[in-house]
Amino acid sequence: MSEWRISEWWSIAIRECRSKYVSEILNLLNSIPMKKLKCRDAGFDCDGEIEAATEQEVLTLAAAHASEVHQVTVTPEMAEHIKTLITNVN
Ligand SMILES: [Zn+2]
Repeated sequence: MSEWRISEWWSIAIRECRSKYVSEILNLLNSIPMKKLKCRDAGFDCDGEIEAATEQEVLTLAAAHASEVHQVTVTPEMAEHIKTLITNVN
């Protein structure tokens, strides 16, 4: 689904729903705590930031990023270290 289609969907949702419910849904989405890892904190010269809803998801994305961008395979030891670098957003 393209961004345009998503925004179209939202404009329809906003038009169809009472604005009260839409703002409640938006508040709910904004209140989901996110986990964040800065690639630089893991020791890479990189401005990459990884954000996900769970620590496990951040680790999975970080491992994919490390192998694709930095040609580094994340070992279990590295994963343990990376876990300590994950911060909470909002
Ligand atoms: Zn990176």
